[in-house]
Amino acid sequence: MQQYGQFIGGEWAPSSSKRTFDTQNPATGEVLATFPQGTRDDVRRAIDAAEAALPKWRSTPAPRRGELLLEAARIMRVRKRELGELVTKEMGKVIAEGLGDVQESIDFLEYIAGEGRRLLGETTTSELRSRFSMWVRRPKGVVGCITPWNFPTAIPTWKIGAALVSGNTVVFKPASYTPLCVAKLAEVYAEAGLPPGVLNVVTGPGSSVGNEIVENPRVRHVSFTGGVPTGIDVYARAAKLLKSIELELGGKNPVIVMDDANLDLALEGVLFGAFGTAGQRCTATSRLIVHEAVYDEVVGKLVDRTRALKVGNGMDPKVDVGPVVSKEQERAILDYVRIGLEEGAKLLVGGEKLTGGAYDRGFFLEPTVFEARHGMRVTKEEIFGPVLSVMKVPSYEAAVKVANDVEYGLSSSIYTRNVNLAMKAIEVLEAGITYVNAPTIGAECHMPFGGVKDTGNGHREGGWTAYDIFSEPKTVYIDYSGALQKAQIDNAEY
Ligand code: NAD
Repeated sequence: MQQYGQFIGGEWAPSSSKRTFDTQNPATGEVLATFPQGTRDDVRRAIDAAEAALPKWRSTPAPRRGELLLEAARIMRVRKRELGELVTKEMGKVIAEGLGDVQESIDFLEYIAGEGRRLLGETTTSELRSRFSMWVRRPKGVVGCITPWNFPTAIPTWKIGAALVSGNTVVFKPASYTPLCVAKLAEVYAEAGLPPGVLNVVTGPGSSVGNEIVENPRVRHVSFTGGVPTGIDVYARAAKLLKSIELELGGKNPVIVMDDANLDLALEGVLFGAFGTAGQRCTATSRLIVHEAVYDEVVGKLVDRTRALKVGNGMDPKVDVGPVVSKEQERAILDYVRIGLEEGAKLLVGGEKLTGGAYDRGFFLEPTVFEARHGMRVTKEEIFGPVLSVMKVPSYEAAVKVANDVEYGLSSSIYTRNVNLAMKAIEVLEAGITYVNAPTIGAECHMPFGGVKDTGNGHREGGWTAYDIFSEPKTVYIDYSGALQKAQIDNAEY
Protein backbone atom coordinates (compact mmCIF):
# COMPACT_ATOMS: atom_id res chain seq x y z
CA MET A 1 0.00 0.00 0.00
CA GLN A 2 1.28 3.46 -0.90
CA GLN A 3 2.07 5.92 1.90
CA TYR A 4 2.18 9.57 0.97
CA GLY A 5 3.42 12.71 2.68
CA GLN A 6 2.60 16.29 1.79
CA PHE A 7 3.79 17.47 -1.63
CA ILE A 8 5.72 20.62 -0.72
CA GLY A 9 8.47 22.28 -2.73
CA GLY A 10 8.55 19.39 -5.21
CA GLU A 11 9.06 16.67 -2.59
CA TRP A 12 6.90 14.36 -0.57
CA ALA A 13 7.58 15.78 2.87
CA PRO A 14 6.43 14.34 6.20
CA SER A 15 3.57 16.11 7.95
CA SER A 16 4.03 17.80 11.30
CA SER A 17 1.14 15.62 12.48
CA LYS A 18 1.78 12.03 13.38
CA ARG A 19 -1.69 11.06 12.26
CA THR A 20 -2.79 9.60 8.95
CA PHE A 21 -5.97 8.64 7.14
CA ASP A 22 -6.73 6.00 4.52
CA THR A 23 -8.34 6.43 1.17
CA GLN A 24 -10.41 3.46 0.14
CA ASN A 25 -12.36 1.95 -2.72
CA PRO A 26 -16.09 2.56 -2.10
CA ALA A 27 -16.99 -0.55 -4.11
CA THR A 28 -14.78 -3.01 -2.21
CA GLY A 29 -13.53 -1.39 0.98
CA GLU A 30 -9.93 -1.96 -0.16
CA VAL A 31 -7.51 0.60 1.30
CA LEU A 32 -5.68 2.25 -1.59
CA ALA A 33 -3.22 4.57 0.13
CA THR A 34 -2.45 6.42 3.34
CA PHE A 35 -2.13 10.20 3.63
CA PRO A 36 -1.19 12.59 6.43
CA GLN A 37 -3.83 14.39 8.45
CA GLY A 38 -2.34 17.74 7.60
CA THR A 39 -1.92 20.61 10.00
CA ARG A 40 -1.94 24.39 9.77
CA ASP A 41 1.84 24.20 9.99
CA ASP A 42 1.95 21.95 6.88
CA VAL A 43 -0.05 24.59 5.01
CA ARG A 44 2.29 27.34 6.15
CA ARG A 45 5.27 25.36 4.85
CA ALA A 46 3.46 24.86 1.52
CA ILE A 47 2.81 28.61 1.37
CA ASP A 48 6.53 29.24 2.01
CA ALA A 49 7.36 26.97 -0.95
CA ALA A 50 4.73 28.61 -3.17
CA GLU A 51 5.99 32.09 -2.26
CA ALA A 52 9.58 31.10 -2.99
CA ALA A 53 8.61 29.74 -6.42
CA LEU A 54 6.40 32.70 -7.33
CA PRO A 55 8.86 35.33 -8.67
CA LYS A 56 10.37 32.98 -11.24
CA TRP A 57 7.08 31.38 -12.25
CA ARG A 58 5.30 34.72 -12.53
CA SER A 59 8.04 36.03 -14.84
CA THR A 60 8.14 32.87 -16.98
CA PRO A 61 6.44 33.85 -20.26
CA ALA A 62 2.85 32.62 -20.32
CA PRO A 63 3.36 30.60 -23.55
CA ARG A 64 6.20 28.72 -21.78
CA ARG A 65 3.95 28.09 -18.79
CA GLY A 66 1.40 26.75 -21.27
CA GLU A 67 3.98 24.39 -22.78
CA LEU A 68 4.46 22.68 -19.43
CA LEU A 69 0.71 22.21 -19.10
CA LEU A 70 0.61 20.75 -22.61
CA GLU A 71 3.33 18.32 -21.60
CA ALA A 72 1.25 17.36 -18.54
CA ALA A 73 -1.67 16.68 -20.92
CA ARG A 74 0.56 14.47 -23.07
CA ILE A 75 1.65 12.45 -20.03
CA MET A 76 -1.96 12.10 -18.91
CA ARG A 77 -2.88 10.81 -22.36
CA VAL A 78 -0.20 8.12 -22.07
CA ARG A 79 -1.34 7.24 -18.53
CA LYS A 80 -5.07 7.70 -19.21
CA ARG A 81 -6.10 4.11 -18.52
CA GLU A 82 -4.20 3.93 -15.22
CA LEU A 83 -5.50 7.33 -14.05
CA GLY A 84 -9.07 6.59 -15.17
CA GLU A 85 -9.07 3.29 -13.30
CA LEU A 86 -7.81 5.10 -10.24
CA VAL A 87 -10.73 7.56 -10.44
CA THR A 88 -13.12 4.61 -10.52
CA LYS A 89 -11.34 2.81 -7.70
CA GLU A 90 -11.06 5.81 -5.41
CA MET A 91 -14.32 7.63 -6.13
CA GLY A 92 -16.59 4.87 -7.46
CA LYS A 93 -17.92 6.27 -10.75
CA VAL A 94 -18.14 3.72 -13.57
CA ILE A 95 -15.03 3.20 -15.67
CA ALA A 96 -16.36 5.06 -18.75
CA GLU A 97 -16.85 8.08 -16.49
CA GLY A 98 -13.51 7.52 -14.72
CA LEU A 99 -11.79 7.70 -18.09
CA GLY A 100 -14.02 10.68 -18.93
CA ASP A 101 -12.81 12.48 -15.79
CA VAL A 102 -9.25 12.10 -17.05
CA GLN A 103 -10.21 13.03 -20.62
CA GLU A 104 -11.80 16.23 -19.35
CA SER A 105 -8.52 17.02 -17.60
CA ILE A 106 -6.56 16.39 -20.80
CA ASP A 107 -8.98 18.53 -22.82
CA PHE A 108 -8.71 21.36 -20.35
CA LEU A 109 -4.90 21.29 -20.23
CA GLU A 110 -4.69 21.26 -24.02
CA TYR A 111 -7.09 24.17 -24.19
CA ILE A 112 -5.42 26.17 -21.43
CA ALA A 113 -1.93 25.60 -22.83
CA GLY A 114 -2.98 27.53 -25.94
CA GLU A 115 -4.43 30.28 -23.76
CA GLY A 116 -0.86 30.94 -22.65
CA ARG A 117 -0.53 32.68 -26.01
CA ARG A 118 -3.63 34.78 -25.41
CA LEU A 119 -4.52 35.81 -21.83
CA LEU A 120 -6.10 38.84 -23.39
CA GLY A 121 -6.18 42.31 -21.90
CA GLU A 122 -7.42 45.34 -23.84
CA THR A 123 -6.18 48.57 -25.28
CA THR A 124 -8.47 51.51 -25.71
CA THR A 125 -8.51 55.25 -26.38
CA SER A 126 -7.35 57.94 -23.97
CA GLU A 127 -8.96 61.21 -22.90
CA LEU A 128 -5.59 62.88 -23.38
CA ARG A 129 -3.37 63.49 -26.37
CA SER A 130 -0.31 61.27 -26.86
CA ARG A 131 -1.33 58.85 -24.19
CA PHE A 132 -1.74 55.10 -24.52
CA SER A 133 -4.24 53.27 -22.28
CA MET A 134 -4.44 49.54 -21.76
CA TRP A 135 -4.96 46.88 -19.18
CA VAL A 136 -3.02 43.66 -18.81
CA ARG A 137 -3.44 40.65 -16.56
CA ARG A 138 -1.18 40.06 -13.58
CA PRO A 139 -1.22 36.90 -11.45
CA LYS A 140 -2.76 37.14 -8.00
CA GLY A 141 0.18 35.44 -6.29
CA VAL A 142 -0.09 32.35 -4.10
CA VAL A 143 -3.60 30.95 -4.58
CA GLY A 144 -5.38 28.26 -2.57
CA CYS A 145 -7.58 25.63 -4.22
CA ILE A 146 -10.02 23.43 -2.30
CA THR A 147 -11.99 20.73 -4.09
CA PRO A 148 -14.68 18.06 -3.60
CA TRP A 149 -14.34 14.38 -4.43
CA ASN A 150 -16.85 13.90 -7.24
CA PHE A 151 -14.55 14.87 -10.13
CA PRO A 152 -11.25 13.95 -8.51
CA THR A 153 -9.00 14.82 -11.45
CA ALA A 154 -11.12 17.15 -13.60
CA ILE A 155 -12.04 19.78 -10.98
CA PRO A 156 -8.48 19.98 -9.62
CA THR A 157 -7.17 20.30 -13.18
CA TRP A 158 -9.60 23.11 -14.04
CA LYS A 159 -8.32 25.07 -11.07
CA ILE A 160 -4.62 24.17 -11.28
CA GLY A 161 -4.41 24.71 -15.05
CA ALA A 162 -6.09 28.13 -15.02
CA ALA A 163 -4.14 29.25 -11.93
CA LEU A 164 -0.77 28.17 -13.32
CA VAL A 165 -1.11 29.51 -16.84
CA SER A 166 -2.09 32.85 -15.28
CA GLY A 167 1.23 32.89 -13.39
CA ASN A 168 0.12 32.01 -9.85
CA THR A 169 1.61 29.36 -7.63
CA VAL A 170 -0.76 26.98 -5.86
CA VAL A 171 -1.44 25.42 -2.48
CA PHE A 172 -3.96 22.69 -3.11
CA LYS A 173 -6.21 20.78 -0.72
CA PRO A 174 -8.04 17.74 -2.14
CA ALA A 175 -11.16 16.20 -0.62
CA SER A 176 -10.22 13.51 1.87
CA TYR A 177 -12.11 10.79 -0.04
CA THR A 178 -9.96 11.28 -3.15
CA PRO A 179 -6.43 12.45 -2.31
CA LEU A 180 -4.75 9.72 -4.37
CA CYS A 181 -6.08 11.07 -7.67
CA VAL A 182 -4.59 14.47 -6.81
CA ALA A 183 -1.29 12.92 -5.65
CA LYS A 184 -1.05 11.31 -9.09
CA LEU A 185 -1.73 14.69 -10.71
CA ALA A 186 1.14 16.19 -8.69
CA GLU A 187 3.38 13.40 -10.07
CA VAL A 188 2.23 14.16 -13.61
CA TYR A 189 2.99 17.90 -13.30
CA ALA A 190 6.40 17.17 -11.75
CA GLU A 191 7.20 14.76 -14.59
CA ALA A 192 6.13 17.44 -17.07
CA GLY A 193 8.81 19.72 -15.62
CA LEU A 194 6.84 22.02 -13.33
CA PRO A 195 9.41 23.72 -11.07
CA PRO A 196 9.36 22.77 -7.37
CA GLY A 197 7.00 24.84 -5.24
CA VAL A 198 4.76 25.94 -8.13
CA LEU A 199 2.17 23.32 -7.14
CA ASN A 200 1.95 22.09 -3.56
CA VAL A 201 -0.58 19.58 -2.22
CA VAL A 202 -1.57 19.37 1.43
CA THR A 203 -4.02 16.68 2.53
CA GLY A 204 -6.17 16.69 5.64
CA PRO A 205 -9.33 18.06 7.17
CA GLY A 206 -11.13 21.27 6.28
CA SER A 207 -10.94 22.32 9.93
CA SER A 208 -7.12 22.58 9.85
CA VAL A 209 -5.79 22.50 6.27
CA GLY A 210 -8.83 24.19 4.69
CA ASN A 211 -9.14 26.87 7.33
CA GLU A 212 -5.45 27.77 7.15
CA ILE A 213 -5.65 28.13 3.37
CA VAL A 214 -8.66 30.40 3.74
CA GLU A 215 -7.36 32.42 6.70
CA ASN A 216 -3.67 32.83 5.89
CA PRO A 217 -3.20 36.36 4.50
CA ARG A 218 -0.32 35.20 2.32
CA VAL A 219 -2.82 33.21 0.21
CA ARG A 220 -4.15 35.96 -2.02
CA HIS A 221 -7.10 34.13 -3.53
CA VAL A 222 -9.10 30.98 -2.73
CA SER A 223 -10.88 28.93 -5.38
CA PHE A 224 -13.38 26.70 -3.60
CA THR A 225 -15.72 24.03 -4.94
CA GLY A 226 -17.98 22.17 -2.54
CA GLY A 227 -21.30 22.30 -0.72
CA VAL A 228 -23.27 25.42 0.25
CA PRO A 229 -22.81 25.08 4.06
CA THR A 230 -19.01 24.84 3.71
CA GLY A 231 -19.04 27.60 1.10
CA ILE A 232 -20.89 29.95 3.45
CA ASP A 233 -18.43 29.21 6.25
CA VAL A 234 -15.43 29.76 3.97
CA TYR A 235 -16.95 32.96 2.56
CA ALA A 236 -17.51 34.38 6.05
CA ARG A 237 -13.94 33.63 7.12
CA ALA A 238 -12.52 35.12 3.93
CA ALA A 239 -14.68 38.25 4.28
CA LYS A 240 -12.91 39.17 7.53
CA LEU A 241 -9.66 39.32 5.55
CA LEU A 242 -11.25 40.96 2.47
CA LYS A 243 -9.86 37.98 0.59
CA SER A 244 -10.67 37.35 -3.05
CA ILE A 245 -12.76 34.18 -3.15
CA GLU A 246 -14.53 32.12 -5.74
CA LEU A 247 -17.27 29.70 -4.76
CA GLU A 248 -18.66 26.94 -6.96
CA LEU A 249 -21.39 25.22 -4.95
CA GLY A 250 -24.34 22.87 -5.24
CA GLY A 251 -27.30 22.44 -7.56
CA LYS A 252 -30.88 21.17 -7.74
CA ASN A 253 -31.04 20.88 -11.47
CA PRO A 254 -34.34 20.53 -13.34
CA VAL A 255 -35.23 18.91 -16.64
CA ILE A 256 -38.49 20.14 -18.17
CA VAL A 257 -40.18 17.73 -20.58
CA MET A 258 -42.83 19.42 -22.70
CA ASP A 259 -45.76 17.69 -24.40
CA ASP A 260 -44.11 17.98 -27.83
CA ALA A 261 -40.74 16.57 -26.76
CA ASN A 262 -38.99 13.58 -28.26
CA LEU A 263 -39.79 11.43 -25.22
CA ASP A 264 -37.28 8.68 -25.87
CA LEU A 265 -34.50 11.22 -26.20
CA ALA A 266 -35.67 12.94 -23.04
CA LEU A 267 -35.69 9.65 -21.13
CA GLU A 268 -32.15 8.81 -22.22
CA GLY A 269 -31.03 12.23 -21.04
CA VAL A 270 -32.85 12.03 -17.71
CA LEU A 271 -31.44 8.59 -16.89
CA PHE A 272 -27.91 9.74 -17.72
CA GLY A 273 -28.34 13.04 -15.88
CA ALA A 274 -29.95 11.58 -12.76
CA PHE A 275 -28.02 8.35 -12.28
CA GLY A 276 -24.67 8.98 -13.98
CA THR A 277 -21.94 9.22 -11.31
CA ALA A 278 -24.64 7.78 -9.00
CA GLY A 279 -26.23 11.25 -8.98
CA GLN A 280 -23.13 12.74 -7.36
CA ARG A 281 -22.63 15.61 -9.78
CA CYS A 282 -23.25 19.25 -9.02
CA THR A 283 -25.13 19.30 -12.33
CA ALA A 284 -27.03 16.02 -11.74
CA THR A 285 -30.67 15.99 -12.78
CA SER A 286 -32.53 15.84 -9.49
CA ARG A 287 -35.92 17.20 -10.60
CA LEU A 288 -37.96 16.06 -13.57
CA ILE A 289 -40.81 18.43 -14.41
CA VAL A 290 -43.19 16.84 -16.92
CA HIS A 291 -46.12 18.28 -18.84
CA GLU A 292 -49.33 16.51 -17.79
CA ALA A 293 -50.14 15.44 -21.36
CA VAL A 294 -47.13 13.10 -21.47
CA TYR A 295 -46.67 12.52 -17.74
CA ASP A 296 -47.99 8.95 -17.49
CA GLU A 297 -46.02 7.78 -20.50
CA VAL A 298 -42.78 9.40 -19.30
CA VAL A 299 -43.11 8.13 -15.74
CA GLY A 300 -44.06 4.61 -16.83
CA LYS A 301 -41.03 4.29 -19.08
CA LEU A 302 -38.76 6.02 -16.58
CA VAL A 303 -39.62 3.54 -13.84
CA ASP A 304 -39.01 0.55 -16.12
CA ARG A 305 -35.71 1.94 -17.37
CA THR A 306 -34.56 2.84 -13.85
CA ARG A 307 -35.36 -0.63 -12.56
CA ALA A 308 -33.25 -2.13 -15.36
CA LEU A 309 -30.10 -0.19 -14.43
CA LYS A 310 -27.27 -2.43 -13.27
CA VAL A 311 -25.66 -1.29 -10.01
CA GLY A 312 -22.22 -2.58 -9.06
CA ASN A 313 -18.49 -2.10 -9.07
CA GLY A 314 -17.72 0.56 -11.66
CA MET A 315 -14.72 -1.41 -12.93
CA ASP A 316 -17.19 -3.79 -14.61
CA PRO A 317 -17.94 -2.15 -17.97
CA LYS A 318 -21.49 -3.57 -17.92
CA VAL A 319 -22.35 -1.65 -14.75
CA ASP A 320 -24.47 1.50 -15.19
CA VAL A 321 -24.32 2.92 -11.67
CA GLY A 322 -21.39 2.60 -9.26
CA PRO A 323 -21.34 2.94 -5.48
CA VAL A 324 -21.73 6.24 -3.66
CA VAL A 325 -18.49 7.56 -2.30
CA SER A 326 -18.72 6.75 1.42
CA LYS A 327 -20.72 5.44 4.33
CA GLU A 328 -21.55 9.04 5.35
CA GLN A 329 -22.78 9.87 1.86
CA GLU A 330 -24.84 6.66 1.80
CA ARG A 331 -26.42 7.55 5.13
CA ALA A 332 -27.22 11.11 4.03
CA ILE A 333 -28.93 9.86 0.86
CA LEU A 334 -30.96 7.22 2.71
CA ASP A 335 -31.99 9.93 5.17
CA TYR A 336 -33.43 11.87 2.25
CA VAL A 337 -35.33 8.80 1.08
CA ARG A 338 -36.86 8.58 4.57
CA ILE A 339 -37.62 12.31 4.57
CA GLY A 340 -39.32 11.98 1.18
CA LEU A 341 -41.51 9.14 2.44
CA GLU A 342 -42.38 11.07 5.61
CA GLU A 343 -43.36 14.07 3.49
CA GLY A 344 -45.74 11.89 1.50
CA ALA A 345 -43.72 11.54 -1.70
CA LYS A 346 -44.58 8.32 -3.53
CA LEU A 347 -41.67 5.96 -4.02
CA LEU A 348 -41.96 4.69 -7.60
CA VAL A 349 -38.77 2.65 -7.70
CA GLY A 350 -35.63 2.07 -5.60
CA GLY A 351 -35.05 3.60 -2.19
CA GLU A 352 -33.02 0.79 -0.62
CA LYS A 353 -29.44 0.00 0.16
CA LEU A 354 -28.31 -3.02 -1.86
CA THR A 355 -27.03 -5.90 0.22
CA GLY A 356 -25.73 -9.42 -0.20
CA GLY A 357 -22.54 -10.73 -1.82
CA ALA A 358 -20.21 -8.07 -3.20
CA TYR A 359 -22.72 -5.33 -2.29
CA ASP A 360 -21.87 -5.84 1.39
CA ARG A 361 -18.33 -4.61 0.83
CA GLY A 362 -19.33 -1.22 -0.57
CA PHE A 363 -21.91 1.56 -0.57
CA PHE A 364 -24.48 0.62 -3.18
CA LEU A 365 -27.89 2.22 -3.45
CA GLU A 366 -30.82 1.49 -5.71
CA PRO A 367 -31.48 4.24 -8.27
CA THR A 368 -34.56 5.93 -6.84
CA VAL A 369 -37.51 7.82 -8.32
CA PHE A 370 -40.05 9.71 -6.23
CA GLU A 371 -43.32 11.11 -7.49
CA ALA A 372 -43.30 14.33 -5.51
CA ARG A 373 -45.11 17.62 -4.99
CA HIS A 374 -43.12 20.77 -5.52
CA GLY A 375 -42.20 22.22 -2.14
CA MET A 376 -41.28 18.95 -0.47
CA ARG A 377 -37.70 18.93 0.83
CA VAL A 378 -36.70 16.27 -1.70
CA THR A 379 -37.68 18.71 -4.45
CA LYS A 380 -35.75 21.65 -3.01
CA GLU A 381 -32.61 20.41 -1.24
CA GLU A 382 -29.52 18.96 -2.86
CA ILE A 383 -29.40 15.20 -2.17
CA PHE A 384 -26.24 14.43 -4.17
CA GLY A 385 -27.15 10.82 -4.82
CA PRO A 386 -29.18 8.66 -7.21
CA VAL A 387 -32.55 10.13 -6.24
CA LEU A 388 -34.85 11.82 -8.75
CA SER A 389 -38.12 13.64 -7.95
CA VAL A 390 -40.75 13.76 -10.70
CA MET A 391 -43.43 16.44 -10.75
CA LYS A 392 -46.45 16.96 -12.99
CA VAL A 393 -47.27 20.44 -14.37
CA PRO A 394 -50.12 21.73 -16.55
CA SER A 395 -48.15 24.16 -18.72
CA TYR A 396 -44.80 25.61 -19.78
CA GLU A 397 -45.35 28.58 -17.45
CA ALA A 398 -45.96 26.28 -14.48
CA ALA A 399 -42.88 24.25 -15.38
CA VAL A 400 -40.64 27.32 -15.38
CA LYS A 401 -42.13 28.49 -12.09
CA VAL A 402 -41.32 25.17 -10.43
CA ALA A 403 -37.89 25.01 -12.05
CA ASN A 404 -36.96 28.44 -10.70
CA ASP A 405 -38.43 28.05 -7.22
CA VAL A 406 -35.28 26.68 -5.54
CA GLU A 407 -32.30 28.38 -3.96
CA TYR A 408 -29.82 26.86 -6.41
CA GLY A 409 -29.14 27.88 -10.00
CA LEU A 410 -26.48 25.74 -11.66
CA SER A 411 -27.79 23.70 -14.60
CA SER A 412 -31.18 23.30 -16.29
CA SER A 413 -32.66 21.65 -19.35
CA ILE A 414 -35.77 21.69 -21.51
CA TYR A 415 -36.88 19.05 -23.97
CA THR A 416 -39.18 20.49 -26.62
CA ARG A 417 -39.47 20.68 -30.40
CA ASN A 418 -40.90 24.19 -30.14
CA VAL A 419 -38.07 26.59 -30.86
CA ASN A 420 -39.96 29.55 -29.40
CA LEU A 421 -40.42 27.79 -26.06
CA ALA A 422 -36.78 26.70 -26.05
CA MET A 423 -35.61 30.25 -26.63
CA LYS A 424 -37.94 31.59 -23.96
CA ALA A 425 -36.65 29.01 -21.50
CA ILE A 426 -33.06 30.09 -22.19
CA GLU A 427 -34.13 33.61 -21.24
CA VAL A 428 -36.02 32.84 -18.06
CA LEU A 429 -34.53 29.74 -16.43
CA GLU A 430 -32.55 30.91 -13.41
CA ALA A 431 -29.40 28.89 -13.95
CA GLY A 432 -25.84 29.44 -15.11
CA ILE A 433 -26.30 26.73 -17.75
CA THR A 434 -29.31 25.79 -19.89
CA TYR A 435 -29.35 22.80 -22.22
CA VAL A 436 -31.95 22.34 -24.95
CA ASN A 437 -32.78 18.71 -25.78
CA ALA A 438 -29.81 17.48 -23.76
CA PRO A 439 -29.27 16.43 -20.15
CA THR A 440 -28.18 18.81 -17.37
CA ILE A 441 -24.69 17.30 -17.37
CA GLY A 442 -21.91 17.40 -19.94
CA ALA A 443 -20.03 20.67 -19.57
CA GLU A 444 -17.34 21.49 -22.11
CA CYS A 445 -14.16 22.89 -20.64
CA HIS A 446 -13.77 25.87 -22.97
CA MET A 447 -17.18 27.23 -21.98
CA PRO A 448 -17.94 29.23 -18.81
CA PHE A 449 -19.11 26.94 -16.00
CA GLY A 450 -20.90 28.03 -12.84
CA GLY A 451 -24.23 29.11 -11.47
CA VAL A 452 -26.48 31.81 -10.11
CA LYS A 453 -28.25 32.22 -6.76
CA ASP A 454 -26.81 29.99 -3.98
CA THR A 455 -24.71 28.02 -6.46
CA GLY A 456 -21.91 30.53 -6.29
CA ASN A 457 -20.72 34.08 -5.91
CA GLY A 458 -20.72 35.18 -9.51
CA HIS A 459 -17.63 33.57 -11.03
CA ARG A 460 -17.29 31.12 -13.89
CA GLU A 461 -14.64 28.44 -14.23
CA GLY A 462 -13.73 27.01 -17.64
CA GLY A 463 -13.35 29.11 -20.74
CA TRP A 464 -11.45 32.36 -20.57
CA THR A 465 -13.71 33.60 -17.78
CA ALA A 466 -11.39 31.50 -15.58
CA TYR A 467 -8.68 34.17 -15.98
CA ASP A 468 -10.92 36.70 -14.32
CA ILE A 469 -10.72 34.45 -11.28
CA PHE A 470 -6.99 33.87 -11.34
CA SER A 471 -5.66 37.25 -12.49
CA GLU A 472 -5.89 40.91 -11.52
CA PRO A 473 -6.32 43.59 -14.16
CA LYS A 474 -3.41 46.04 -14.13
CA THR A 475 -4.34 49.31 -15.82
CA VAL A 476 -1.46 51.03 -17.59
CA TYR A 477 -1.18 54.60 -18.96
CA ILE A 478 1.82 55.56 -21.07
CA ASP A 479 2.16 59.28 -21.68
CA TYR A 480 4.39 60.19 -24.63
CA SER A 481 3.43 63.91 -24.82
CA GLY A 482 6.46 65.06 -22.86
CA ALA A 483 4.23 67.37 -20.83
CA LEU A 484 2.23 67.09 -17.63
CA GLN A 485 -1.33 66.42 -18.76
CA LYS A 486 -4.05 66.55 -16.15
CA ALA A 487 -6.92 64.19 -16.80
CA GLN A 488 -10.34 65.77 -16.13
CA ILE A 489 -8.68 69.18 -15.72
CA ASP A 490 -6.95 70.31 -18.90
CA ASN A 491 -8.70 68.24 -21.53
CA ALA A 492 -11.04 70.94 -22.86
CA GLU A 493 -9.11 71.75 -26.07
CA TYR A 494 -10.33 70.23 -29.33
P1 NAD B 1 -17.81 19.82 1.05
O1 NAD B 1 -18.30 21.21 1.09
O2 NAD B 1 -18.11 18.93 2.19
O3 NAD B 1 -16.20 19.81 0.90
C1 NAD B 1 -15.55 20.47 -0.16
C2 NAD B 1 -14.10 20.69 0.24
O4 NAD B 1 -14.06 21.65 1.30
C3 NAD B 1 -13.39 19.44 0.76
O5 NAD B 1 -12.06 19.42 0.31
C4 NAD B 1 -13.45 19.67 2.26
O6 NAD B 1 -12.44 18.97 2.98
C5 NAD B 1 -13.24 21.16 2.33
N1 NAD B 1 -13.62 21.81 3.58
C6 NAD B 1 -14.48 21.37 4.54
N2 NAD B 1 -14.55 22.27 5.55
C7 NAD B 1 -13.75 23.29 5.22
C8 NAD B 1 -13.41 24.53 5.86
N3 NAD B 1 -13.91 24.88 7.04
N4 NAD B 1 -12.54 25.36 5.24
C9 NAD B 1 -12.04 25.04 4.03
N5 NAD B 1 -12.31 23.88 3.39
C10 NAD B 1 -13.16 23.03 3.98
O7 NAD B 1 -18.33 19.19 -0.31
P2 NAD B 1 -18.14 17.71 -0.86
O8 NAD B 1 -19.02 16.78 -0.11
O9 NAD B 1 -16.69 17.39 -0.95
O10 NAD B 1 -18.68 17.88 -2.36
C11 NAD B 1 -20.03 17.87 -2.70
C12 NAD B 1 -20.55 19.26 -2.95
O11 NAD B 1 -19.74 19.91 -3.95
C13 NAD B 1 -21.95 19.25 -3.52
O12 NAD B 1 -22.71 20.24 -2.90
C14 NAD B 1 -21.74 19.58 -4.99
O13 NAD B 1 -22.86 20.14 -5.62
C15 NAD B 1 -20.60 20.52 -4.92
N6 NAD B 1 -19.93 20.62 -6.21
C16 NAD B 1 -20.04 21.80 -6.90
C17 NAD B 1 -19.46 21.91 -8.15
C18 NAD B 1 -19.54 23.19 -8.95
O14 NAD B 1 -18.71 23.41 -9.82
N7 NAD B 1 -20.51 24.05 -8.70
C19 NAD B 1 -18.76 20.84 -8.70
C20 NAD B 1 -18.67 19.66 -7.95
C21 NAD B 1 -19.26 19.56 -6.71
